[in-house]
Amino acid sequence: MMNQTKLLVATHNPGKAREYAHLLAGLPLAVTWLDAVGVTEAVEETGATFTENALLKARHYAATTGLLTWADDSGLEVDALGGRPGVYSARYGGPGLSDRQRYEALLRELVDVPKAERSARFRCVVALAWPDGRAWTAEGIVEGHILTAPRGDNGFGYDPVFFLADYEASMAELPAQIKNQISHRALASQNAQSVLADLLAQESQHEKADQ
Ligand code: IMP
Repeated sequence: MMNQTKLLVATHNPGKAREYAHLLAGLPLAVTWLDAVGVTEAVEETGATFTENALLKARHYAATTGLLTWADDSGLEVDALGGRPGVYSARYGGPGLSDRQRYEALLRELVDVPKAERSARFRCVVALAWPDGRAWTAEGIVEGHILTAPRGDNGFGYDPVFFLADYEASMAELPAQIKNQISHRALASQNAQSVLADLLAQESQHEKADQ
């Protein structure tokens, strides 16, 4: 029998790793992680867009490990800030801050912005790359607005200050199970999983043709 294809999920972020462990549980692939394959280095995210950064990471780790690789880049876009922090979400407010200090800095920056102008979205781009450099991307978006004070303890990052009108709750008030169905990462994952299914079908066609 053929060995099950391995899929390397390239993240060092424990919050994301927890979410992906659930999101990818049904895949017919052996999912593995950077730590599990002994990769400790982080790729510098020098791209100007989520897509560029996701591709940069997926291609780099696929080339260094020889594994089919799944990498994402995600963040928060606040309309009143012209889309910031965007690709700088993890670095917003300066180096060495906690998640809480970052969202507090955001609330301070938005202190004079009225509710009607606090629209924002989480965006996630997933890139899939083979070791030979071939790569594909998929995107997911969730719309909301920025609260004036944090609510809830679940999730990570900006979840306590991101409000979803449809759920009358912040992202951090939603149980993980719900966030895992509706988040930008969940939507990008669904889209990426259909890309992946097509890729694996093509690969198995090629393997059959080569036999
Ligand atoms: P990345 O690890 O480069 O994708 O940076 C993502 C950053 O965006 C994180 O460090 C968080 O600050 C923020 N972010 C991304 N996804 C989420 C989420 O689901 N909830 C809250 N913050 C998020």
